[in-house]
Amino acid sequence: MLQKLRYKLAQFMVGRYGMDQLSQFIGWLCFVFIVIGFFVARPVFSLLTLVLILVMYFRVFSKNISARYAENQKYLTYSARVRGSLNKTKGRLLDLRTHHIYKCPSCGQKIRVPRGKGKIEISCPKCRTKFIKNS
Ligand SMILES: [Zn+2]
Repeated sequence: MLQKLRYKLAQFMVGRYGMDQLSQFIGWLCFVFIVIGFFVARPVFSLLTLVLILVMYFRVFSKNISARYAENQKYLTYSARVRGSLNKTKGRLLDLRTHHIYKCPSCGQKIRVPRGKGKIEISCPKCRTKFIKNS
């Protein structure tokens, strides 16, 4: 029985696009909207969830494989960019815990100095101006 069902499903999926990262992401988005909709009882969230589910199923069962593939590639490029900038922001925030950014008083050059070293003399790498700061 289960085998027959699996076979039927496999047959149904022949020539269809199937799951990809973009559809997975849409699935996650649905989940997020369902959770938000649970707390914020607004019909707009149910509608958004419904639309997202429809889009996801449309993509999974689509026979236009090249178009779906192109969409997924776009999504991958975009998400890599977002992930990259998120990592950068995270790195910068972590860096602020151990380092301080000072601006050179004469040329405005930003200088990264480790924290917790007491009073230190910083010399600007750009214009060689020396100044004293509490790190
Ligand atoms: Zn300077």
